[in-house]
Amino acid sequence: MKQRVNIALALALNPSLIIADEPTTALDVMVQDQIFHRILEIQKKIHSSLLLITHDISLVAENCHKVAVMYAGKFMEYSEVDRVFGEPFHPYTLGLKNAFPSISRSKDRPLISIPKNPPSLFDPPDQCRFYSRCPFSTSLCGEEEPMIREVADGHYVACHHVDRVEEMREKAVREEIWDPSLNQ
Ligand code: SF4
Repeated sequence: MKQRVNIALALALNPSLIIADEPTTALDVMVQDQIFHRILEIQKKIHSSLLLITHDISLVAENCHKVAVMYAGKFMEYSEVDRVFGEPFHPYTLGLKNAFPSISRSKDRPLISIPKNPPSLFDPPDQCRFYSRCPFSTSLCGEEEPMIREVADGHYVACHHVDRVEEMREKAVREEIWDPSLNQ
């Protein structure tokens, strides 16, 4: 209820930009849907922009034009939603796709979680922030933080090894790539 009141108060001011930070967290699916559709209705009515911050990939895929995938406080990948989820370049985006349930996913393809934890942001490392969890890392990744760069028109990625994207896409769907202990 508090969430609904806060959203109503914020939108009553007719903002030119709505920043919705996890707007549907802790709500059941039906209420999530109602609240988010109400936000979208008002956004369209007052012609504002919407910046959605969320862990819910399906909410982004259904409602956003562009997406910035962030990890440990840094941009990893940015482009139009169809491109980022349809043809991801970054290993973290590949890992997120594997971990998200989808009705179109084949029965033979298990959900794969990304092992280990993100680095501490109290003392962030001077290396790729995904280094400790990335199955495609090299020594370069442990020595230098990758800059974000344009890899295709309007598609930006922060990874040293975008040239290996075909290999990474092909291997990332295999559980043992993320968890080598499964090979033992
Ligand atoms: S820079 Fe290296 S560690 Fe970071 S995502 Fe790319 S391959 Fe993985």
